[in-house]
Amino acid sequence: MRNSEYDENRMILVCNDDGIFSPGIRALAEVAKEFGQITIIAPDRQQSAVGHSITVSDPLRVTPFQINSKMEGQAVNGTPADCIKLGHDKLMKRKPDLVLSGINHGSNAGINIIYSGTVSAATEATILGYPAIAVSCTEFSESADLIGAQDATRRAIRYALRNGLPAGITLNVNAPAGPLKGMKWARQANSRYVEEFEGRIDPHNKPYFWITGRLEILDEGEDLDLNVLKKGYATITPIQYDLTAHEFYRNQAGDLED
Ligand code: MN
Repeated sequence: MRNSEYDENRMILVCNDDGIFSPGIRALAEVAKEFGQITIIAPDRQQSAVGHSITVSDPLRVTPFQINSKMEGQAVNGTPADCIKLGHDKLMKRKPDLVLSGINHGSNAGINIIYSGTVSAATEATILGYPAIAVSCTEFSESADLIGAQDATRRAIRYALRNGLPAGITLNVNAPAGPLKGMKWARQANSRYVEEFEGRIDPHNKPYFWITGRLEILDEGEDLDLNVLKKGYATITPIQYDLTAHEFYRNQAGDLED
């Protein structure tokens, strides 16, 4: 039985950054299958926090991957952005109508957006001209209940299909673990990490450092993604890869005099 939202002529590309073996990509693919045909192309290993990095000095290899009895995918020995670029250029006979990335295990709200491989897969799809949505669950554990994140994904997909997305705009969705309490439009909180590294000593008596820390919000407002999430709601944030500081730029003109 297919619901009325299913369209066999719709091709949905599914990617992530936690790797093709992660529970989150299965949860996302299940939702994607309600809306159309799916192609799964994802990194063959954990690629969290690689941002928008691409592979330029090594060959990319693609391996068929059996996800479960109902799904198969293609595992790429590269980054999330590599997966989207390779899918677009070589692996997909039929170009996608929609690209989904996630469900990431861990929040991609606030400044996490800029480090995120999950978001970058979606951003790369936007660059290539495809409507794209990144989805993350704020709970880091791979055993987190993704049912709310799946519902938030459905809402975001419906929004994108009904309204379309303007060129250059990616949707970034975050959801707490567990059932969906509600979902709100939110803006990226200006934030940063503090106390980032823990120093330890290895068995050879050499010091090493392990990244850690907590997110500090440098911003105020009930509509900040991090604040909306704290209240238990899922968030949807329109983001863009155009990094020009437009407001600043508007106040400048012509030549920069010495
Ligand atoms: Mn990740």
